[in-house]
Amino acid sequence: MPFVYDFDHQHRRPPMELKDLLGGKGANLAEMTSVLRLPVPHGFTITTDACRAYMAGGWPASLSAEVQRARGRLERKMGKRLGDAVDPLLVSVRSGAKFSMPGMMDTVLNLGLNDESVQGLAKQTDDERFAYDSYRRFVAMYGRIVLGLPGESFDHLLDEAKERAGVTSDAEVPLSELRAMVAQYQKVVRQGTGKAFPQDPETQLRGAIEAVFRSWNGPRAIAYREHEGIDHDLGTAVNVQAMVFGNRDEQSGTGVGFTRDPATGTKGEYGDFLVNAQGEDVVAGIRNTEPLSALKASFPKIHDELLGIFGRLERHYRDMCDTEFTIEQGKLWMLQTRVGKRTGRAALRMAVDMTKDSAIRLTREEALGRVTAEHLEQVLHPQFAGSGHAVLTKALGASPGAAVGRAYFTADEAAAAAADGTPVILVRNETSPEDVHGMLASQGILTARGGLVSHAAVVARGWGKPAVVGAEKLRIDGKSFRVGSTVVSEGDWLSLDGTAGEVVLGQVALIEAEPSAEFETVLGWADAVRKGHLKVRANADTGADAANARRLGAEGIGLCRTEHMFIAEDRLPIVRRMILAETAEEEDGALEELRVAQRTDFVDILEAMDGLPVTVRLLDPPLHEFLPDIGELAIKEATTGLTPEEQRLFAAAKQWQEFNPMLGTRGVRLGVIKPGLYAMQVRALMEAALDRVAAGGKPVIEIMIPLTVSRPELALARGWVEQAVADVLTQAKKAGAPALRGRLHVLIGTMIETPRAALRAGEIAEVADFFSFGTNDLTQMTFGFSRDDVEGRMMSAYLEKGLLAHNPFEVVDADGVGELVRMAVTRGRATRSDLKVGVCGEHGGDPQSIALFADAGLDYVSCSPFRVPIARLSAAHSVLAAVPAKKKAVPAKKKAVPAKKKAAPAKKKAAPAKKKAAPAKKKAVPAKKKAVPAKKKAAGRQSAARRR
Ligand code: PEP
Ligand code: MG
Repeated sequence: MPFVYDFDHQHRRPPMELKDLLGGKGANLAEMTSVLRLPVPHGFTITTDACRAYMAGGWPASLSAEVQRARGRLERKMGKRLGDAVDPLLVSVRSGAKFSMPGMMDTVLNLGLNDESVQGLAKQTDDERFAYDSYRRFVAMYGRIVLGLPGESFDHLLDEAKERAGVTSDAEVPLSELRAMVAQYQKVVRQGTGKAFPQDPETQLRGAIEAVFRSWNGPRAIAYREHEGIDHDLGTAVNVQAMVFGNRDEQSGTGVGFTRDPATGTKGEYGDFLVNAQGEDVVAGIRNTEPLSALKASFPKIHDELLGIFGRLERHYRDMCDTEFTIEQGKLWMLQTRVGKRTGRAALRMAVDMTKDSAIRLTREEALGRVTAEHLEQVLHPQFAGSGHAVLTKALGASPGAAVGRAYFTADEAAAAAADGTPVILVRNETSPEDVHGMLASQGILTARGGLVSHAAVVARGWGKPAVVGAEKLRIDGKSFRVGSTVVSEGDWLSLDGTAGEVVLGQVALIEAEPSAEFETVLGWADAVRKGHLKVRANADTGADAANARRLGAEGIGLCRTEHMFIAEDRLPIVRRMILAETAEEEDGALEELRVAQRTDFVDILEAMDGLPVTVRLLDPPLHEFLPDIGELAIKEATTGLTPEEQRLFAAAKQWQEFNPMLGTRGVRLGVIKPGLYAMQVRALMEAALDRVAAGGKPVIEIMIPLTVSRPELALARGWVEQAVADVLTQAKKAGAPALRGRLHVLIGTMIETPRAALRAGEIAEVADFFSFGTNDLTQMTFGFSRDDVEGRMMSAYLEKGLLAHNPFEVVDADGVGELVRMAVTRGRATRSDLKVGVCGEHGGDPQSIALFADAGLDYVSCSPFRVPIARLSAAHSVLAAVPAKKKAVPAKKKAVPAKKKAAPAKKKAAPAKKKAAPAKKKAVPAKKKAVPAKKKAAGRQSAARRR
């Protein structure tokens, strides 16, 4: 396979599909040149294969000759030669990986200039100043990027030249100073490397290509890939392209244009441009730009041509494209295009609009594929509450959502403050890729300079971080800034509205975003796609949470952690009385009080989820969680002394203390040693259900036993539950309650949270109506990783060293835990083919994990309320992804048949068990309505990873 392809090479497939080989930029340059025949400066692409070969074993033997031949072809097409003393060709050398990594890798511009060709350039352009300015830029760029010299050694010489000349902008530096700077820069190179600045274009080209290859493994690029989850082995392509100059004169310019507004999705051109400037000036945000619409006035013909190209690009790519273009002395050149990054709001709007656009005709399935989990997360961003805030300054709303934090002025300080738990607003003149860690750590970003496509804007939008850019009135001075007479110092509170572009002093209250109409439309399509496949429930413990979850599309509750009801301020003393009880009467009395309290909690939840299944998990955590901290009591005992009540609590805490509480007396084990506890909870739940029936409701109840490891254990617990259910129903009947036929549905099942339960799922299913995988504990116990300890201490080291591909508490471990899940589903359903199976660990809201659960045949996933919309979309994505795979996978599917067949007799075998379970059990009513979003991922994780 060749390592080098010209942009006009006729590939067998559309080059835009060859991103693996040509990188994104190279593939699209080839598409624009060879397919769309747009005005693109000629050039060639060195493939990602070459980069991978370079990373594995150095410069590939055949690459020099290939580059030389491609250079010859380029020179012939352009009628110019690199390094020519009369009419030189200049090239840019740019990175271009499969996935866009804006600003994370290196670029060298103006390559081909040397002491001779600079004179040729001066003559050809009749502009010595331009020629020497290009040359001094090239020497500095080459010195910094290829030769690894510090940028400041060049920058300070430029500052000195400006000072000598008494000017403030680069454009005003006189020719004499530029000539002197070239010599000074070359001296810096000689001193820094021990060698003269290379004059030979071939040496220059090889150096630049190698530098771009190397930049793939630069710290910025690695950090970016880690954050974005991009594979480190992909490598980058390198694009060598004839230079065109936007900085030739006032008839020249450069810009970045989008075919639609990437922030809102509104149809129509959008972007920035600068007259008489090079591309980097726009992206770096060093000069404030003009909006693309202003091009109409200054360059009307070019404006029309550009809009024509935008239309063709949209029709061709069937998507919003972003572009970089340059105008050189009145001629338009397209330098880059790609499917553009967009905010969540824009993604939703474009996905819906493009299904109605006759030039694009997106199908609903395609539209769903254009919306990601991150997009949905973004539209769930908070906004300013109320209106009429005193706006300190208004600038460009570059990335939507509102943020509140304390002002920090460097990326390092921002990152350090954020690490201490301070919410941070990063305030910079402009941002560069060096600031990425500070940007990541911040709640929001504010810059004094830059346009809507400046670095800060692009990066913030990609991450969904609120950002306000181009706040020209900001005067930053060290650790403070001034707007008029107002001074804001490090640590002062700021609020940003990244949609309106407003900066407000102090802390503005925030409210959750109202999702747009397109949000509901897209999720409606997602629901249609996943119908009959994977349902989405929520983990919710209160009526308010349940109502919120339903609003966000939840189709029931997959996990109600009843311990959260015990922790409430008014319940804790009762729980403690129950624990401290010395006699059966005392214990019964406390349980009775708890029953009354829990009953009202359950009524609220069942009401909010009326008609939908509610899975109530009986008490799970170890009892010491409800007792005061032993350490604190010990200190108090030694200092001020303990009250008699505290002394009793201290004794109980010591008695219940365990060396390894996560593996101790919790879950069903607690039920075994305190059987009255589970009976009380079931009674409270059933009484609540009867209240709901009496009120005309339709409760659908699933009672879940936590942490079981064997059939006998579950059978025992099931017995208590059935007894309690029967008791409540009998009592109700005696009290003259109306007949319940068809109005009350109760299933009894278990969590599968231990490897043993997964292994013995076949026999456990004999006494379970449903399984719910508790993948938090299952992960903990499969890895032997404490869910409370390893993430803080060792997870980052494991991820950095590549010992784990993901944090297994975030993304389910497909090979280990995933295998246990698949095995338990197969074994459980072999016993009982109608076994309902779901997941309620945190992984239920993670897109990658959802794909695995869908593939494993689960009936539903359950996650924190705010993740419900994401789970709905991800479930649809996994169904869509499975369609072609299933079509292709005929043999695999065939192989699966015997397993299904095997299930049939097993089902028969299960019949007696089913009968045994009969008393309380009626066939569950299928969930009907869906609800929707609710909490943030962090909140979900917190409630899962309890303080055990
Ligand atoms: C689990 O273990 O995955 C689970 C949902 O239970 P908890 O997080 O409450 O232990
Ligand atoms: Mg658990």
